[in-house]
Amino acid sequence: MAIDISKMRNIGISAHIDSGKTTLSERILFYCNKIHAIHEVRGKDGVGAVMDNMELERERGITIQSASTQVQWKDYTVNVIDTPGHVDFTIEVERSLRVLDGAILVLCSVGGVQSQSITVDRQLKRYHVPRIAFVNKCDRTGANPLKVRMQLREKLGLNAYMMQLPIGLEDKLEGVVDLVTMKAVYYEGESGTEIRIAEIPAHLVADAKKYREELLDAASMFSDELAEAYLEGAETEEMIHAAIRKGTLGEQLVPVFLGSAYKNKGIQSMLDGVIRYLPDPTEVKNVALDLDKNEEPVVLSCNENAPTVALGFKLEDGKYGQLTYVRIYQGSLKKGDELYNTRARKKFKVGRLVRMNSATMEDINEGVPGDIVALFGVECASGDTFCGGGLNYAMSSMFVPNPVIDLS
Ligand code: GDP
Repeated sequence: MAIDISKMRNIGISAHIDSGKTTLSERILFYCNKIHAIHEVRGKDGVGAVMDNMELERERGITIQSASTQVQWKDYTVNVIDTPGHVDFTIEVERSLRVLDGAILVLCSVGGVQSQSITVDRQLKRYHVPRIAFVNKCDRTGANPLKVRMQLREKLGLNAYMMQLPIGLEDKLEGVVDLVTMKAVYYEGESGTEIRIAEIPAHLVADAKKYREELLDAASMFSDELAEAYLEGAETEEMIHAAIRKGTLGEQLVPVFLGSAYKNKGIQSMLDGVIRYLPDPTEVKNVALDLDKNEEPVVLSCNENAPTVALGFKLEDGKYGQLTYVRIYQGSLKKGDELYNTRARKKFKVGRLVRMNSATMEDINEGVPGDIVALFGVECASGDTFCGGGLNYAMSSMFVPNPVIDLS
């Protein structure tokens, strides 16, 4: 099946340790793959969740171990890329940030912005990774997502805006008010998979209006169409989403979602935020250095007909041999292709090509530009660039940022 590149997202989950990154990753896989059965084990906060059978255990293993896992959300393809968040500018962090196009910044609703949140945010800023925020653990005693929003502004200098308000907090968290649709969203059923849309509870209407106004005032900065329509009270959801997207991609706005990964609340809405507001691979400007031209920077084109340029960003020793995860920046990558490793100055043939889904490893024949795939049995080092068509480019450089294309 051909992948529509505009419907692809390469995202990372950046978080302070213990804010729920692992739980959230599992839930993303869960919702995307409708995997059943969750049972509780006691974790640090008195709660915790582990998926309940061998298959789900394996799932958990893959979540943690795979450098990139592909899931489908609605008709979008999302590659969830593992990002080591706790260390600052190491080459490993640099490489994983290099392959992301967008990120979910996860925070704890009680702990808020902590020292590691500052570290991961600094990393995202340095590589110009647009982000949405998810305030997790809103079921905990002392949860205060609005306070976390203020901290995002004050401590991280982010232009953070609530996309939602909580309906109930702590153990009474039921759902959210969606400030775009001005409807209440309840996540029901044991695993929160049943979504019920209803009118906003009366006691929240005034607050919802206030925060919506704040959001629309901010979003209007990015769209004249929205600004005009908003003045006339004729704004549409599409206009609002488009304006927020533009602000987010330009790193001038950070939409804030909230919920509880553990209680299965808010994740689907956050995933909608991922596909609505974070960039597709064609919207991100990626630069390689031309080694034949004195390392002259070249802007790559996320086009399948261009010569291949791909970065091997992570090596893994798997059961069946060495796996090399690659991000394809330009051109495609097919079984049988001959590629050139520009560091080792060696040609090699693409043999077995696979993709990591949540529970399985799938053999594929081709990877499209923007995608992340894994190669078997390629002798290389992490950070090597693979080129086709006689190109001699190097992707990896601490000094080449990843700016999002100017959308104005
Ligand atoms: P990580 O270190 O960021 O990967 O965090 P984990 O996902 O391992 O979660 C750390 C602890 O917080 C575990 O005990 C989880 O069960 C718990 N946790 C994760 N999400 C939530 C949540 O939404 N609410 C509550 N109360 N606890 C959570």
